[in-house]
Amino acid sequence: MHGHTDSWYAASANPAPAHPRLEGEVATDVCVVGGGFTGLSAALHLAERGYDVVLLEAERIGWGASGRNGGQICTGFSKGMEAVEAHVGMEAARACWAVTEEAKALIRERVERHNIDCGLKWGYLHAATKPSRMEGLKRDQESLARYGYEDTKLLDRFALMERLKSPAYHGALWEGGAGHFHPLNYALGLADAAAAAGVRIFERSPVERVATGPQPAAYTAEGTVRAKHMVLAGNAYLGPVSRPLYRRIMPVASYVLATEPLGEDGARATIPGDDAVSDTNFIVDYFRLSEDKRMLFGGRASYSQIRPRDLFAFIRPRLLEIFPQLADARLDYCWEGNIGITVDRMPDIGRLDGEVWYAQGYSGQGVALAGMYGKLIAEAIAGHAERFDLMARFRHPPFPGGKLRTPLLALGMLWYRLRDALS
Ligand SMILES: Cc1cc2nc3c(=O)[nH]c(=O)nc-3n(C[C@H](O)[C@H](O)[C@H](O)COP(=O)(O)OP(=O)(O)OC[C@H]3O[C@@H](n4cnc5c(N)ncnc54)[C@H](O)[C@@H]3O)c2cc1C
Repeated sequence: MHGHTDSWYAASANPAPAHPRLEGEVATDVCVVGGGFTGLSAALHLAERGYDVVLLEAERIGWGASGRNGGQICTGFSKGMEAVEAHVGMEAARACWAVTEEAKALIRERVERHNIDCGLKWGYLHAATKPSRMEGLKRDQESLARYGYEDTKLLDRFALMERLKSPAYHGALWEGGAGHFHPLNYALGLADAAAAAGVRIFERSPVERVATGPQPAAYTAEGTVRAKHMVLAGNAYLGPVSRPLYRRIMPVASYVLATEPLGEDGARATIPGDDAVSDTNFIVDYFRLSEDKRMLFGGRASYSQIRPRDLFAFIRPRLLEIFPQLADARLDYCWEGNIGITVDRMPDIGRLDGEVWYAQGYSGQGVALAGMYGKLIAEAIAGHAERFDLMARFRHPPFPGGKLRTPLLALGMLWYRLRDALS
């Protein structure tokens, strides 16, 4: 699809209308900046509640992380529930957990209600990179059970071979309530549903400046949107348009590679269970089969913001460590995208001065959460802020600024690589 990064997702996108650029001045109830899962979900939810909504996207719908990611629909928060419990106590943690479970249910519901063709599948493996990691997975299973999530199984190395044929893993925790899909097609489906509900979508309309306060406005090169409320949903791509938000997240590049279609036999020889898979390392490898049986393999985050010169060469060794049987597979696509991470790896949701709302920094686990956080903002604008307030209790220190910003993060990354190797 034209105007997207050169990914397998763009090459296999469902037909979608091109939306116009913003020209001139427009007034509305809510202006949403950003056409990824956060912005689309907020816009759709608000339009369904009767609000007049304008959505401004700098490029094309789903151009950012939402149209490039691993397509893995994960359970919970990147940080894990124990950290949440420590921060807000058990009772509030249960309410946070309910939000994360609703995030996945929301995808299921929207796919069904709006008939979105995005290859949605359930089944997820957390694969142990060392024998010692099985203990941690057992604790994770117990922790999930404390929240009433019982659809899990611990698989030893032998049992895992039935679902995942890789010499790299020592067992896994399987869960039935997480899964995978084609994220760009889901984003395009949300945009269609939002447009049908009355949202006016403008593409190729980068917001250069926003006025916050009681009467927010967004300014592009050729137009202005004046609104009663504004939602900033640009996440790792928003950049310095909002300084306070920019300081609280760090864009970290992650890379995804797509092989040629492997056929039914190739699929059976790699992930016969057709689950989404991620491993137990801090710097995680994540992979799954596409609907046309390609291996979509992601990982190797770069915190230094220096782009490797040959992306294929950068990721291929990791792919072959996990699946040596793919040594002869042709590699068709490789692309990158920015993940927004926060210092404490919990999502950052809140309100700037006046009527400006935002959510960002899902820290590598936003496929399900971003849509839900968009919904929480929509609820809060409509006057029901209880769940928004709960998630806004997580305060986020800024990353160190100035020249130290990137080198410090790169150093942190080296430490985690070392930890993955040694522990
Ligand atoms: C390579 C990669 C793999 C990932 N894999 C997974 C995964 O498997 N599972 C998972 O849970 N999470 C994953 N993530 C994270 C997940 O994709 C994100 O958390 C989620 O998509 C964030 O959605 P969003 O709408 O907040 O941001 P985005 O999807 O990035 O959307 C922001 C949009 O705002 C637009 N924008 C920015 N600035 C402006 C402006 N000034 N004016 C107008 N528009 C603007 C951008 O063009 C962009 O389209 C991955 C991310 C990447 C990059």
